Amino acid sequence: MKNDSLSFWERLYIKEVLKGLILTSKHFFQNMKVHILNLFGVKTERKGAVTIQYPEEKKSLSTRHRNLHRLTVREDDSPRCVACMMCETICPAKCIYIVAGEHPDPSIEKYPVSFDIDLGICVYCGFCVEACPEDAIRMDTRMLEIASYSREGMKYNKEMLMDHNKYCKKD
Ligand code: SF4
Ligand code: SF4
Repeated sequence: MKNDSLSFWERLYIKEVLKGLILTSKHFFQNMKVHILNLFGVKTERKGAVTIQYPEEKKSLSTRHRNLHRLTVREDDSPRCVACMMCETICPAKCIYIVAGEHPDPSIEKYPVSFDIDLGICVYCGFCVEACPEDAIRMDTRMLEIASYSREGMKYNKEMLMDHNKYCKKD
């Protein structure tokens, strides 16, 4: 669609590109000045911006940060999940797949025969954690490295999700 509200010079965007370059350069030189002053022991009001040397260096995450899921376990290392399907139902991405089975212990109605999450389509909303009545699923492993070369590699099964408890202190 033709935009008649812009003049010929505005449509070239030269002025806007130059404005962007000036702003970026301004921040670059201001930051460099702070680093040079700090290098010579001069204290400045603000610290110079630094690039974190990831993965050797890691940024501290907020306690509210949602990251790789885990299925919490009971004292006998069985999953706390009672296969109530609340998480599967509320999940907006429809990426939780649970198959429920009768639990041998009559005090526990059901257990997940299988519990899969496809993190390739998960939107990290945390609704599954909020909906769970058993505190059986959490997103507090602080693990962010979940990239995979394949879509299949983004699918996590029950055993893998339970194994993620190793990233956290014992409950
Ligand atoms: S974080 Fe959200 S999208 Fe991901 S599995 Fe849980 S409910 Fe689904
Ligand atoms: S993880 Fe929680 S909400 Fe999901 S099926 Fe198990 S008990 Fe229900």
